[in-house]
Amino acid sequence: MNAAKDDEEYCVTCPKCGRVIQKSFTTDSIIKCSKCSYEFYAYISDGVAIAMDAAKIDGRGSRKRLLTYVQALSNLKESTGTDG
Ligand SMILES: [Zn+2]
Repeated sequence: MNAAKDDEEYCVTCPKCGRVIQKSFTTDSIIKCSKCSYEFYAYISDGVAIAMDAAKIDGRGSRKRLLTYVQALSNLKESTGTDG
């Protein structure tokens, strides 16, 4: 395990209009675009970044599925050993 790297900051952009909402190393929140008012969910953790329609993760079940997906992505990243 290594500590946070300075060069792994992610830009969270609006999936609809592309506006940069924030720059972050880690986030797990519903974000509302200040430009087009589109509401979406952003997840950034350990090199995995996901943005999706907030309406799609309303249910507890879909959030659980999302986290499973995130975990799968993390595993994939480790097994392929990308230096990205
Ligand atoms: Zn927008």
